[in-house]
Amino acid sequence: MRTVSRQQVFGSLAGLVALSCLPTVSHAASSSIGRLRLSDAEWRKRLSPEQFAVLRRAGTEEPFTSPLLNEHRQGAFACVACALDLFDSATKFDSHTGWPSFFRARRGAVSERRDTSLPGEPRTEVRCARCDGHLGHVFTDGPAPTGLRYCMNGVALTFHPR
Ligand SMILES: [Zn+2]
Repeated sequence: MRTVSRQQVFGSLAGLVALSCLPTVSHAASSSIGRLRLSDAEWRKRLSPEQFAVLRRAGTEEPFTSPLLNEHRQGAFACVACALDLFDSATKFDSHTGWPSFFRARRGAVSERRDTSLPGEPRTEVRCARCDGHLGHVFTDGPAPTGLRYCMNGVALTFHPR
């Protein structure tokens, strides 16, 4: 009797170990871009006050202030907080809004969620998929081929020429 119960205990332990391994394995398989999650205190050390206000507090930069509006070289626009490539220069267009605009984000690079912070004007917020930083919004009045307009805060982006 005693031996049997000990085997049952070992059996249960083995089951627990196997279960506790599962989340780690599936996480590694599903997050190919990796995730960067920091506290506000850590973000304040890494970011300028302007970058923090936009990325971590969903602020909006003044229009026509971003140097990236006049960036017309070939390359990639990356998240300034975590360096994830977000937009290719081939998808950039001049929306005349004063904010850097793109008609397509790189696959899997951004997450989108409903934003009801402006009364009567539901919008779709765009965040970086790696660090969850606020980037801007996406609207459906963009040009072909997607009809989308990713309206981005230039202060949240950095440009890497090819
Ligand atoms: Zn990021």
